[in-house]
Amino acid sequence: MVEINSVLITGANRGIGLEFVRQFLTNTSVRTHIIIATYRSQESSSALLELAKSTTKVYTLKFDVNQFDTYDKFVIDVQSIVGDKGLTLLINNAGICVPFGDTLDDVTPEKFTSVFTTNATAPVILTKVLRPLLKQSARIHSDKNNGLSIARAAVINISSIAGSCAADIGPLFLYAYRESKAALNMSTISMAIELEKDGILVESLHPGVVDTDMTATHTLPKIDATTSVSKIIEVLLTLNGKNKEGFPSYDGKILPF
Ligand code: NDP
Repeated sequence: MVEINSVLITGANRGIGLEFVRQFLTNTSVRTHIIIATYRSQESSSALLELAKSTTKVYTLKFDVNQFDTYDKFVIDVQSIVGDKGLTLLINNAGICVPFGDTLDDVTPEKFTSVFTTNATAPVILTKVLRPLLKQSARIHSDKNNGLSIARAAVINISSIAGSCAADIGPLFLYAYRESKAALNMSTISMAIELEKDGILVESLHPGVVDTDMTATHTLPKIDATTSVSKIIEVLLTLNGKNKEGFPSYDGKILPF
């Protein structure tokens, strides 16, 4: 069993994020000591808040990833939870999409900027401000080989096959969403190189086409969030920073950037 001291998941009140919280509590391949789950509003987060009441492992923090002026306070809150062991695993999961079927006629500068801020800018800025805590975890949890792993220190960016420039997903344009995930992948490549020397693994990951609010109007075949996240955790446990060819999908396949 792999020990993960702490994991922070953004957008953890519903969908894939909430399922991450559930499975870090119950998955038998990992033992996670501290799970920090962020949410935006009390009203839409009852499932998460109830879950948190049933265990001492889950800490909830109110956090909107677009509010960059709250990041310093957020880091202090995270630090007070994780203590001197630092933060082991950051999962940049919070994301927004445009309506399925969006074409060039539907795109506006406002929509583009808004999707980009949440999906592409926020994960990078959050990684930047949490870097000292991740570095602290990497120092404390280094093994004799100093290898990269999610048990040492890692940033996992929840991307999408829709952000792969080379994958053929047909005429699904989703302007702003696809570009934002391609940009996130580019940032993953840069951060993986820059943070390797700190002992921090950085990877993008495609969760599959998952049945959540985001895909409610989508007609493609979908998997449920339980299947997606259980397979993602299997994949996470294999990551060692050596894959440079593309980004993993929930089923272990490597997708081209
Ligand atoms: P959902 O729409 O079900 O959930 C999105 C989550 O992101 C919610 O918790 C939402 O919080 C949160 N969120 C959105 N904006 C912000 C913000 N500004 N600050 C903080 N939290 C925010 O989507 P999924 O669970 O399906 O998606 C999770 C991730 O997986 C996303 O990054 C998505 O792009 C990616 N993905 C999903 C796929 C799918 O098939 N579902 C396929 C490929 C990738 P709130 O409730 O407050 O709005």
